Order: sequence, then C-alpha cells, then structure tokens
Amino acid sequence: MDGEPDLWIGGSWRHASDRGTRDIVNPANGSTAAVVDEATPDDARHAVAAARAAFDDGAWRATPVAERATLLNRIADLLQRDKEDLARLETVDTGKTLAESRIDIDDVTSVFRYYSRLIAVQADRVVDVGDPAVISRVVREPIGVCVLIAPWNYPLLQMSWKIAPALAAGCTMVAKPSEVTPLSTIAFARLLEEAFAEASVPAGVVNLVQGSGAALGAALTENPAVDFISFTGGLATGRTIARAAAEHVTKVALELGGKNPHLVFADVRDGDWDTAVDHVLTGVFLHSGQVCSAGTRLIVEEPIADDFVAALAARAAKITMGDGMDPASETGPLVSAQHRAKVESYVQLGIDEGAQLITGGARPDDPALADGYFYLPTIFDRCDRSMRIVAEETFGPILTVERFTDEAEAVALGNDTEYGLAAGVRTSDAARGERVVRALRHGTVWLNDFGYYAAPAEWGGFGKSGNGRELGPTGLAEYQEIKHIWHNTAPTAAGWFKG
Ligand code: NAD
Repeated sequence: MDGEPDLWIGGSWRHASDRGTRDIVNPANGSTAAVVDEATPDDARHAVAAARAAFDDGAWRATPVAERATLLNRIADLLQRDKEDLARLETVDTGKTLAESRIDIDDVTSVFRYYSRLIAVQADRVVDVGDPAVISRVVREPIGVCVLIAPWNYPLLQMSWKIAPALAAGCTMVAKPSEVTPLSTIAFARLLEEAFAEASVPAGVVNLVQGSGAALGAALTENPAVDFISFTGGLATGRTIARAAAEHVTKVALELGGKNPHLVFADVRDGDWDTAVDHVLTGVFLHSGQVCSAGTRLIVEEPIADDFVAALAARAAKITMGDGMDPASETGPLVSAQHRAKVESYVQLGIDEGAQLITGGARPDDPALADGYFYLPTIFDRCDRSMRIVAEETFGPILTVERFTDEAEAVALGNDTEYGLAAGVRTSDAARGERVVRALRHGTVWLNDFGYYAAPAEWGGFGKSGNGRELGPTGLAEYQEIKHIWHNTAPTAAGWFKG
C-alpha cells in the first residue's frame, strides 16, 4: 500500500513483478484511497508454488493441533487490537458505515475463535470392523494447497470464513481478495505475519496476491498444484472457476449470489407490525443492498400489501445516506461507478418491464454526495415472476414487491428462483412459520428475523447459490481429506491363492 510491497509470497513482501499498480477508490467521494501492487499471473503462479512447497515440506501440517488452536486465538486477539484500523480501511474501501465495519471485524474475530475451539476437540473416529486384531480409524488430514477468492462486499469477513478453517485444518493457501477492495486483507496479512513470527509458522503457509480475477484466474484455478478452490462471488465467475477446476478434478466450493425472498403474512398485523416493517427494510437496504443474502423480493399477503408497502416506502425515503466515516450516515454508497451503472440499468429495466416505481429510482440530489456512487433506496410494486428484475440479482438497493393470497402460493413464489441462498418468513402463527421454513429451498431461513449468521452454523446455498458450506463443522470439513487407516496388529495369510 502506498509504496510498501503488497504481495506476500513465500514469507516475503514483494511488489508486482512488472511493477504494476492499481488505484483503490473511495466510493464515498471518488478519491484515490490507496495505490496497491497488482499481481501478474507469474506472481500468482509463484504464490501457488510457495504454498505447494510449504505444504509438501510437511512441517506445518504436522503442527500439533493445540499449537494451531493457540495460533488462531492469537490471531483473534490481534484482530481486536487492530479493530479500529481494520474497520476504517474496510469503510474507506467498500463505502459501508464504520459501525458495520466494526461489526464485521468482531465477526471475523469470532470465526477465528470458533475454529480455534473446534479444531481443539475434533476427534478421529474409531471403527469396529469385527476383528479385535484390527485397529481401524477414520482420520482427517488437511486437503493441501487452497486458493481462496473473495468478493468486494464483505472483503475481510468473507476471506476469514476461508482462512480460519484452512489454517485450523493445517492447509497452505493463496488468498486473492477482490481487486476492488484489497486493503483490509493486505493489513490482515501483516497481522498474520506478526502472529506467524511469534509461533514460528513456516514461510509460505499463507500467501497473498491481489489483482484482476480475469487476469489471475487461470494461474490460480487451472493450476495442477492446487488441491481446493474456495470461491465467493457471482454466478458467472463461479461457473468459469468450476469449469477451469474440472481439468485437474480440483475440488471447488462455491458461494454465489442470491435472490432472496422475504415472505410476510397478513397476521403480522396482529403482531409487531413495526418490527416486521423494520426487518424488511433493513434486510434489503443495509449496505445499500450489496449483500448476497439481502431480502430483495418482498412477497406479501394481499390484504396488508398496500399498507405494508406504504410503511416501507415512508421509512426508505428517510434513510440517511452519506460517507461511511460520518456517524450520521445510515448507509453508504455503492462500491463503484461501474456497479452503480449496473444498478441503474436494472431500475430502467424494472420501469420498462412495467413495475410500479414507488420510491427512489434516482441518485440523491444532495450536492454533498455528488462525487460518491450513491443511489436512493428504491421500491418497485406490482412485480411478478416473469420480470428480470424479480429473477436476477441486482446487488443494489432495489426491493421488488409481489403479492400472494395463500400459504401454498407464498411458498411457491419463495422457491421460484434459480438461487437458494437465504429467505425470511414473518408470521405470528408459529405452526405456519415452522411449515413454511421447512418448505423453502434455501440455505438459511430466518423466521421472524432477518440477516443473522453465526460462526458455529453452516452458511451456503441451494440451487445456483453454490455448493459446499462455510462456517460450522462443515466449513472446516471442506478443508480436510478423510482417510481410513486399517491397522492389523496380528496379520495372518489371506489363504485365497493356494499355490
Ligand atoms: P465477482 O464474481 O465479480 O468476483 C469475485 C472474486 O472473483 C473477485 O476476487 C474477482 O477478482 C474474482 N474473479 C473474477 N473473475 C475470475 C476468474 N475468471 N477466475 C478467478 N477469480 C475471478 O463477484 P463480486 O462482484 O466481487 O461480488 C459480488 C457477488 O458475490 C454477488 O453475486 C454476491 O451475491 C456474491 N456473494 C456471495 C456470498 C455468499 O456467501 N454466497 C457472499 C458475498 C458475496
């Protein structure tokens, strides 16, 4: 960053081999926040080779589990020590409010603490094969060299869901943050360097490259030295990576997009109406809608639809937008001019498709926001599932509204998506709530709440939202191979062949 080398390869910090750099833009005002090294494909290949050498050397993967658990806890301590600096970088880079960034760093910390605890108690499984002379056990071993690719909306958070279990498992890795938002991951790598020096972790266990995915993709994902690719990002990129990985039958875990329904039943009128409105509002407009699990499809029961949408629109119009560094800001800008242009094209598409624009649909007219990539919270009513704006991930502050008349229709609409990442259900009828959450085909379903996740609980998608899971025990298992060891303590001849 700003003259310091940003690529961490084989334990040393380097500039890009061709000295290329990239300007990192603060989306709140369009200024250059930092200049970072832009890796070349050669740099990426060197990083993979360093991770391969560190894995094959064997010392790291043989580290006692207790030492790895202590290391993860130490990383968590350092994250808390540096919390404010990391949070500020995240805000400057993504535009999200500082309050959100601080929550992100706390969540990153909790992921390291969780995997520290989990790895410490993970036990092998002893299998009874019916012969007392045979000791048969199933053990877990690190999968090997991992390529970890993260998106720009939760840069360090998404990366931590990969690095923490990979380290816990004893893997080596190459981390590639989004080229749009690399700053917090670079700072985090410096923090890792400190923790690794204290614990004498060998060079090359974690390597960091940043740069364009299109340029570095092949070097990272078509590389036969890689054993596992964990990717979080868009559906189109996920497809490209899965195809690239197929050549060497490299295992891939994909955390892709979502088009997440939020089902609201009319009985919320008898319950806490204001909380229901609040959760739908927060579910879609937090971080200006740049959340993979954002509740962008409101599916609301007909009798309350008009009132519910009116209540939402009134509150959406009052959301305070501004620089994430300003404590008065409730939400920040979109991440880039390019991304805002995509969101704007979806708004135009919604209008062209005949959806009814209720609020938003424009940039804010506040001159103080003119240099940033801000866009107003936008609601479209009278939408239906034939519209692209209902089917496709817009990844911006756009809520579409569909109406239903009975429970079966609500479930059918909620499941009518090629994605399946997350969904919300609001009802004051507990039995109906339980029926509906079981009927929805999504990886996370919130009943009378929205947006929460926890390190011990798996996260991931049904359908085209991806495969594999992060967090929880399954999020660690992704980074482990399973081996069955059959040890015969009193072998005798099989006697099958007589000669
Ligand atoms: P993206 O797919 O454009 O980029 C994601 C990452 O992939 C970046 O680091 C990028 O540089 C890299 N990349 C791009 N092309 C590549 C290639 N050919 N080979 C290898 N890497 C390549 O996604 P984005 O715009 O950064 O992020 C937004 C998307 O991420 C949304 O679709 C969102 O839903 C999704 N997302 C999903 C989750 C989840 O948990 N399922 C979480 C956050 C974001």
